[in-house]
Amino acid sequence: MPAFHAAIIRWYRRNARDLPWRRRSDPYSVLVSETMLQQTQVARVIPKFEKFLAAFPTIASLACAPLADVLRMWSGLGYNSRAKRLHETARTVLRDFNGQVPHAIDDLRTLPGVGRYTAGAVASFAYGADEAAVDVNVGRVLSRALLGKDRITGSAIWELAARVVPRGRASMWNHALMDVGALFCRPNPDCAGCPARRNCVFSTSGKPERKTGARRGRALSAKAPFLGSRRYYRGRVVRALTCAPRLSLLALGEQVKEDFAATDVAWLRDLLAELERDGLVALDANRAHVRLPTDARQS
Ligand code: SF4
Repeated sequence: MPAFHAAIIRWYRRNARDLPWRRRSDPYSVLVSETMLQQTQVARVIPKFEKFLAAFPTIASLACAPLADVLRMWSGLGYNSRAKRLHETARTVLRDFNGQVPHAIDDLRTLPGVGRYTAGAVASFAYGADEAAVDVNVGRVLSRALLGKDRITGSAIWELAARVVPRGRASMWNHALMDVGALFCRPNPDCAGCPARRNCVFSTSGKPERKTGARRGRALSAKAPFLGSRRYYRGRVVRALTCAPRLSLLALGEQVKEDFAATDVAWLRDLLAELERDGLVALDANRAHVRLPTDARQS
């Protein structure tokens, strides 16, 4: 195990990705970046992260902002429910934790939208706690390198990850594993360039083979279902409303769906009802006009 740690940490010291959120280690910034990185690629988060923090520089400023402003600033990242939960988290921290993001895992996990991974990331990156943070990439690296398996999941991977966190260096370790996972230990691993190759069970047992054709197929098939999906249209509704304070159903429908017709009104009403339940839009009393909610507490 020391050789595995040493190889990865040595490589990371020289080759760490220069990501804007790694230049900040205050708990609020970590919370923002980790929430943005849930389900969104690094390249899309980079330009939004600094802008978001410029608009809401403190957790108090985020908590006091109207949800509509938060959703406008979030536009382009997708999965708008995350913005709403982050906003709720800011308010919870202000109300229940005296404005300080908690450091204990159990407290972190009481916050809206903060799961095991995000709690581990905040505890290790912001507070230096010896906590694991297992995302898909980290899970794959540890499963392959230490067990020779393509990917183990659930409590097994968390127990394994917790066992191998080097004491006092969890922040660097978690970042390093994420970089190894993102740059080398992808579904089709690039073992030849990987710093862990000499200490990796998967690699030394000769299992990895590049399957570029299969990879391309997966990438295409992963993207195809999104276009035209319910999630796709949910995102388009919120994005349209970030540019207009209030829209009629017809105007909104024409913006979110090509060839929007009278027969699509029931579909749009159903979509809006779902978004309204999630607190992401608000309909007027006559349900003929829609806008972003002005305040999460009213939604
Ligand atoms: S050597 Fe290969 S399988 Fe092992 S961690 Fe590196 S990329 Fe992954």
